[in-house]
Amino acid sequence: MTALRTEAVVLHIFDYLETSRIVRIATREVGVQSVLARGARRSRSRYGSALDLFASGVAEIATKAGRDLHTLTSFDVQRARAGLAEDLGRFTGASALAELALRFSGEDTHPALFDTLVASLDALDVSPEGETVEVSLGCAWRIVSELGFAPSLDRCASCEAAVPETEAALFSHRSGGVLCPGCARLEPVHRALPPSARAMLASWLAGEPVRGLPAGERRAHQRLLREFLREHLADGRTLRAFDVWEHERWEERSSTATPA
Ligand SMILES: [Zn+2]
Repeated sequence: MTALRTEAVVLHIFDYLETSRIVRIATREVGVQSVLARGARRSRSRYGSALDLFASGVAEIATKAGRDLHTLTSFDVQRARAGLAEDLGRFTGASALAELALRFSGEDTHPALFDTLVASLDALDVSPEGETVEVSLGCAWRIVSELGFAPSLDRCASCEAAVPETEAALFSHRSGGVLCPGCARLEPVHRALPPSARAMLASWLAGEPVRGLPAGERRAHQRLLREFLREHLADGRTLRAFDVWEHERWEERSSTATPA
């Protein structure tokens, strides 16, 4: 058995047998791992209240060769991120980001992805109530970028010809970005992307904040991201947390849009 100490963040927790929990964590050293927290459901557990969703800290993991499920021997919490549980938009946004990390990153060491994920949860933890969708969208695109799938926005994704920023462009999920008019004729499935929407995507990928999007544009960006993920990353399975995030915000917006 080998002991490993690593920075980690809790992305998913479920009960296991009478007294334990299985926790899925993203780590700085060994990617995403499933670990068994023995006795974590007991009132006096060695983990205390540290093992909460989205908390980060230092995990000590005992690994055994050939085993998928390792043992979490301790978890020293450094940031609990209580703010994520206080607002539905923050919570569903964080859940959607956690799902991206769980579904698409493996056990490989990827410190930049880990740092992006942690910074994303920090940003959402303190994001104002009305801006959680924009913050989540920005974080999700940066995670996509760290995963190596950032869309091409200023050059044609197919032939690399420059696509002027001032013009509406056609965006192809399959090609992985905007297309020049010539390539767009050969690629039947695409979406029109107005210059402002393309600029927003570029801002998010550069880590710059975007605020105050009208409801319709938020919806369009959530849909664009969902379609992009489905094309490039998903294995055919539904992204359930992403679905809740997208759907719930939509319902909230439609209820505020209709005067009582
Ligand atoms: Zn082209």
